[in-house]
Amino acid sequence: KAGQSIESNFLFYSEEMNQRAKEHLRIESELRQALQNHELQLYYQPKVSLRSGRIVGAEALLRWRHPLRGLVSPGVFIPVAEETGLILDLGAWVLEEACRQVREWRDVNLIIPPIAVNLSARQFDAELPKRVAAVLERHRVQPDQINLEITESLLVRGTDKVIDIMNQLVAMGMSLALDDFGTGYSSLAYLKKFPISTLKIDRSFVIGLPYEENDCAIARAIVTMAQQLRQEIVAEGVETAEQMAFLRELGCDQLQGYLFSQPVPAADFAAMLREGKRLAFGNR
Ligand code: C2E
Ligand code: MG
Ligand code: MG
Ligand code: MG
Repeated sequence: KAGQSIESNFLFYSEEMNQRAKEHLRIESELRQALQNHELQLYYQPKVSLRSGRIVGAEALLRWRHPLRGLVSPGVFIPVAEETGLILDLGAWVLEEACRQVREWRDVNLIIPPIAVNLSARQFDAELPKRVAAVLERHRVQPDQINLEITESLLVRGTDKVIDIMNQLVAMGMSLALDDFGTGYSSLAYLKKFPISTLKIDRSFVIGLPYEENDCAIARAIVTMAQQLRQEIVAEGVETAEQMAFLRELGCDQLQGYLFSQPVPAADFAAMLREGKRLAFGNR
C-alpha cells in the first residue's frame, strides 16, 4: 500500500513536470513569433524625485500582447526567455526599441529624462559595450539618455571580466543601477568593487513600510549604505503616501510605484512629461 502511494505521487509529480515542460515549450515558440509579429511593446514607468516631485527618469518594461491571451506579464515569459537564451534577442529588441523611442521623442522636441532598460545577466558578455554603442549611434542617442538596470546575480558571478565590461559602459557615459537590491547575496564588500551609481530597493522591502519593523530596518540600512557609497537610491513599488513619507525621512532620492503611475504606453508617458506636473511634493 505504501509503495502504491509513493508510486502515484511520483506519477502525479511527473505529470505536473510534463505539463510545465509543455507550457515552457509553448511559451518559447510563441515568444519567437512574438518578436517577428511585433507583439512586443515597451511600457514606461516614471521615477519621481522626492526633492522636486518631478519625473526625473523612467523604466522601460517589456509587455507582450498575445493575440489570444492578451497582455502577458514579463513575470511569465522572462524566466522562460532566460532559460532558453531567447533573452538575448529580446534584450537586443528592448534596447533598440528604447533608443528608437527616445529618438522619436527628441525629434518632436520633447525633453525626456534618462530611460532605464533592464539587462539580463546573460547579455553581459565582452561584446556588450560595442553592441550598445552601435545601437546608441544608429539612433543618435546620447549615452546618458539610457541607463542600465542589472541584478545582483551578475555581481555574485563577480569576475574581473564583469567589472571590466561595466567599466567600459561607464566610460562610454552610461550609468548602471542595481535592481531588486537586497534580494540577492551582494554585500557591502561586493558593492564597492562595481561602478554602480544607483541602488534600487526591492519592492518586497517597501511593502511593509512604515509598519513592519524588519522592513524599516532593512530600508534604513540600504539607504545608509548607499549614502556612504555615494550612490543614488531609488525605491520601487511605492504604493502609499505612508511609504513615501517614510522613504523621504530616510533620505531616499527617487520613488517609483503605483502611487505615482503604473507602467504606461509611450504616448501616455509623453503626455505626462508634457503636462509636467508635480507627482510628489518635496520638502528637502
Ligand atoms: P523590475 O525590473 O524590478 O521592474 C519592476 C516591476 O515592479 C515591474 O513589473 C513593475 O510593473 C512593478 N511595479 C512597479 N511599481 C509597482 C507597485 O507600486 N506595485 C506593484 N505591485 N508592482 C509595481 P513588470 O513590468 O511585471 O516586470 C517584472 C520584471 O520583469 C522586472 O522587474 C524585470 O526583472 C523583468 N523585466 C521586465 N522587462 C524586462 C526587460 O526588458 N528585460 C529584462 N531582462 N527583464 C525585464
Ligand atoms: Mg528593473
Ligand atoms: Mg526592480
Ligand atoms: Mg523588482
